[in-house]
Amino acid sequence: MSVGRCPVRDDFDLVVSGALVVGEHDIEVADVGVTGERIAALAAPGTLRGTRIVEASPGAVLVPGGIDTHTHIAWPIAEGVRSLDDFASATRAAAVSGTTTVIDFVPASGGSLLAAARERMAEAASSLIDYTFHPVIARITPDRLREIPALVDEGLASFKIYTTYDDRLDDGEIRAVMTTVAEAGGLAGFHAENHAILEHARSAVLSDSAAAIDRFPRSRPGSAESAAIGLVTHFARELGAPVYVYHVSGGEALAAIEAAGESGVLVQAETCTHYLVLDDSVYRRPDGWKYVITPPVRDAAAQDRLWDALRAGVLGSVASDHCAYGLEHKLPGAADFTVLPPGAPGLDARIPLLWDHAVTRGRLGLRGFVEVSATGPARTFGMYPRKGVIRVGADADLVLWNPAREWTWPAFEAGWGSDYEPYEGMTGAGLPELTISRGRVVARDGRFTGTEGAGRFVPQRIDVRQWPRRQAARGAGRRPSV
Ligand SMILES: [Zn+2]
Repeated sequence: MSVGRCPVRDDFDLVVSGALVVGEHDIEVADVGVTGERIAALAAPGTLRGTRIVEASPGAVLVPGGIDTHTHIAWPIAEGVRSLDDFASATRAAAVSGTTTVIDFVPASGGSLLAAARERMAEAASSLIDYTFHPVIARITPDRLREIPALVDEGLASFKIYTTYDDRLDDGEIRAVMTTVAEAGGLAGFHAENHAILEHARSAVLSDSAAAIDRFPRSRPGSAESAAIGLVTHFARELGAPVYVYHVSGGEALAAIEAAGESGVLVQAETCTHYLVLDDSVYRRPDGWKYVITPPVRDAAAQDRLWDALRAGVLGSVASDHCAYGLEHKLPGAADFTVLPPGAPGLDARIPLLWDHAVTRGRLGLRGFVEVSATGPARTFGMYPRKGVIRVGADADLVLWNPAREWTWPAFEAGWGSDYEPYEGMTGAGLPELTISRGRVVARDGRFTGTEGAGRFVPQRIDVRQWPRRQAARGAGRRPSV
């Protein structure tokens, strides 16, 4: 961004005036002019006029809308059972909390991948903000492999492959899929936990104790993650293919990613809110069942390693791994992790919790916050520079923050049907006061003001030349006074 003195211009549809703008290159007080769905101008404060003007209050910060790289909206959690939200209710909560794009999944299916993708697109038509998908690839057949180039052409270019659970692929299938995806110009991503190590660890835990919740982390050791990451990054190196790792939980997984990156593998990875703000003491609490999430939340040292990796650019995204379970799904297994369906709601909590830790508490600063909540995800998943950045020509996906606003979670009514809250009672500072999706104000002060069905599919064009780069130490950026 380059903000120069210029004559007053008055032809914008919307102007956000006088906020501290986290632009692509600079962080400075500026006016942002929006025409239609796009950012049309960045200019000195007080120089832009338009049909609608939002005067930022002192201290307000304008950032690109958040991109959640990992959500499971209206997710099939058992035969014939879906999680409690739908695309309308989930994206409403996303907008209120500062997210303007979600990357969800096309669930695994036995039939045509293209047909499953079309079905999922139809479900998402009620979204209030923009969306795209990672198709899950399970149960390989020649017909399904042949559909992968067509999916990539349609902009469904990032995939999810499981190395555990019933939908897992074996090593040979993983190599075959990675080959096909790479040849098509797509990105293979992994739920990376080695199935055999998990089975062994679980048997060992159950042989000398009950399946109490405090035993859950031992049933899914970090070595299961590092072993699976070692395998998929080995194939990535051999094939010259890029690879993505979902939900990195701690130090062992990070070490495997760092080693692969240092040896030249094109690897990007995300962590999730829960790994950054919780530690494994949660499993000793009476409500420890809330945190049965795979991989598990690790110890406090792992949490520090994850923040270091975000600062260094080893991790490029913070996702929610949102799944709107309710007590009806969770309480039957509240004392036995082997019958608990893993996962937790968190699409609404992701951005406010990340802001509080990254910006208010200073762990990443404004630049780092924007990088891992918006720009990095857009670059990794082929949506940059249309998404994830404040610059002329980009979609006007903008969030105006009040950094001083204190909260006790939940800060808003999520309204998607979950009747429990993993982050209940946490306190912090900083909340969105305005969310703009492609030029439309979709939320203001915790209330949704948008339109069901206004969200659009965002095609992904994966381009590793646009991927975020690692750096020795990411600058902390400017920190607003709180
Ligand atoms: Zn997930």
